[in-house]
Formats: sequence, C-alpha cells, structure tokens
Amino acid sequence: MSDQRKVAGVYGGNGFHWVGDGFRVTQVFPGAHDLGERISPFILMDYHAPYTYSPTDTPRGVGVHPHRGFETVTLAFEGALAHHDSTGAGGVIRAGDVQWMTAASGILHKEYHEAEWARAGGRMHMMQLWVNLPAANKMEEPGYQPLTADEMGTIQLDGGKVTVIAGEYNGVKGPAHTHTPINLWRVELDADSSMEMSFPADHNAALFLMEGDMNANGTEADEQQLLLFENEGTDIELRTEEGAHLLVLAGQPLGEPVVAHGPFVMNTYDEIRQANSDFQKGRFGELV
Ligand code: MN
Repeated sequence: MSDQRKVAGVYGGNGFHWVGDGFRVTQVFPGAHDLGERISPFILMDYHAPYTYSPTDTPRGVGVHPHRGFETVTLAFEGALAHHDSTGAGGVIRAGDVQWMTAASGILHKEYHEAEWARAGGRMHMMQLWVNLPAANKMEEPGYQPLTADEMGTIQLDGGKVTVIAGEYNGVKGPAHTHTPINLWRVELDADSSMEMSFPADHNAALFLMEGDMNANGTEADEQQLLLFENEGTDIELRTEEGAHLLVLAGQPLGEPVVAHGPFVMNTYDEIRQANSDFQKGRFGELV
C-alpha cells in the first residue's frame, strides 16, 4: 500500500467497574486514556466484554439519569437490553442491533437487561460509545434511531464480513444518520485473513479489538485494546492469524472546545452549569 497510516499508540481499558448493577465495563477513553481531539468526535468508550449473568426476576441495569450535548450509541453483540426515555420512546436492543440516541438538548433515560432475557440469564456482550455533537446541534430536540441487525450494511469479504453501522465501506452504506462524517463498522475476520481500508488523513481513525488477534500496519493489539492512528497517511492494512472481531471507529474531528461533566458534554463551563440547573429544575422531562 502506498500511503500507510502511522500508528499513534495502543491503549487498554481501566480495569472493570459497574454501571448500575447491570453493566460490567472497562472504559478505554476517557477513563483510562484522555485521547481528547485525537479520537473526536468519539468521547467515551465503555466496553462490556462477554460476561454471564445469573437468572433474575429483577432485571439489572442503570436507573433514570440525564444526558445533554452528545449521542449515546449502544451496540449489542450478545444479550438483550431494554431502554426507556423521557420523550416516551423505548425499545429493546438485541444481538446485532444498535441504538443511536441523540440526547442533544436533554433526555432522561434508563437502561436495563431486557426482562425475558434477564429471567433466563446468560452471556451479555455489548459496548456503549458517546459521540460528540457539534456546538450547533447540542441544543436540538432529542431523538433516537433504533437500528436493527437486518438494516445494517453488510459486505462479505474473502475471509470475513464487514457490518457498516455508520459511514460506508466498498460502496455499502450504514443506516445511521450522523451529524458529522463518521465511520463505525463491525468487522469479523476468519483465521489467516486480511482486509484493507482507507480514511482521509485528517479524519481520526482507530480499531478496537474485542476478540482474537490483529495486526494493523505492522502493530499488534491485544483483546480489549484500542489501536489509534496518527493523522498522517490514509491506508490501513489489517491482518489476523487466529481470527478477529473488532470495531472500526473513524471520523472528522469536531475541532471545538469540549467541557465534560458527568452526563453532560458541552463547549463551555457556563453551559455545564446551565445543564445542571436545568436538570435540577426538571427541564429534562419526566421518567419514572
Ligand atoms: Mn445513559
């Protein structure tokens, strides 16, 4: 390949913590590594590696909480999640589905294991990404896109499969509407296979290995590690020996100030104070 992207580094998570009592996650960024503008427009990655839950009649999860200024993108690989929010929307995210929720001006929601699934128990494997919104879109009406497995863009490779959630690969587009150019793909590669991809040099790009092994432009990453590229060069050559299940994250950096505080991600401290005040005054709506 003629214009290989340089690798900036390989980053792991920060051990494990519980979100509510239902999500055992490791936070790769910003918890373990503040990658800042290098990973913009992505602002947070909570990875829930496969973990088995015992059966229960009381679904585990996280109770009502607010968000403002960004989007939460929840990807289910195994298991089933249920959610409800203050716009009245709700639904179930099953294996292969993605929920792309635009919190924007403010939303309250709760996220739980789906009740039937929880009664049987089983293996949960999922991820939540936070995607920043441009300043111009932060105070828009909230909404969400329930993206089901059968809507995704799929490309069969010689030795594997690419599932396009957002953006485009080999002319196949993903279903997600994004506010800025983003590529989010799930890649499953068979043993001893490879693939190539390319992104504009000024777009950020990273690969997160969930399972298996991978080598990208000569650098290896282990499971639960993020391989981040420099904004130099365009092309990525990805190889695996044992097979790989990974995510591709790429996008145009926003280039705007980021002031994050808990569930609010804004551009200034004043806007964070406003978010806290609005939340305290009940202006994010109601959700029991
Ligand atoms: Mn949430």
